[in-house]
Amino acid sequence: MRLRNVKGSREKISASAFVIHEPEQQKGNWSEVFGNDNPIHIEIGMGKGQFITTLAQQNPEINYIGIEKFSSVIIRAIEKQDELQLPNLKLIRMDAEAIEEVFEKGEVARIYLNFSDPWPKDRHAKRRLTSRQFFARYNTILKEDGQVIFKTDNRELFDFSLEEVVEAGWNLENHTFDLHNSEYVEGNVMTEYEAKFSAEGKPINRLVASREVKGE
Ligand code: SAM
Repeated sequence: MRLRNVKGSREKISASAFVIHEPEQQKGNWSEVFGNDNPIHIEIGMGKGQFITTLAQQNPEINYIGIEKFSSVIIRAIEKQDELQLPNLKLIRMDAEAIEEVFEKGEVARIYLNFSDPWPKDRHAKRRLTSRQFFARYNTILKEDGQVIFKTDNRELFDFSLEEVVEAGWNLENHTFDLHNSEYVEGNVMTEYEAKFSAEGKPINRLVASREVKGE
């Protein structure tokens, strides 16, 4: 995925009107960035952006923010958005470790994590986007009834994530070890990695996690 040294990518990112360059300054103001109060859904580690650009096209009443840490990758999402010019899609180049500096408490309604890097060594577990450390960050920025939706082909990472949901004190709303042959497949939008892995015959795992809504 990591296309190193894509020529001119930093310049193109700086010039793009769809990229929010100092996202910390928009903390608490994302509705103003979009010019409406629609719910905000983010994808962390969006890669080349196929998933989030498709969702933004399908759901104009939702505001989407795609987050990607590498310039050489986000540039592909910028090229898609340059063609599509979707008013409900913004992009941020950042490491999601700093996500609480960018979104106010409860500012985000949904977080998508798709085919996140597995970080297989135990000592790197806290870098996994479904680690308890990341769930603690999501706990801050997500609305009370917000959801984290995670897909992966990696069964070890998925099993780890199922445990971390519980460890973090979240509810597992539902999960499947074979999304494409499950009741949850309807309306599924494929990511680049998902298209590749499912074409190879690999089953796709998916979970939906949320917090207990107080008063229920
Ligand atoms: N979501 C895409 C898909 O399913 O096709 C891309 C999957 S790719 C394996 C994972 C992406 O997440 C990479 O582009 C990587 O740079 C990005 N990523 C990993 N950790 C990240 C982090 N902490 N913050 C932002 N992006 C991250």
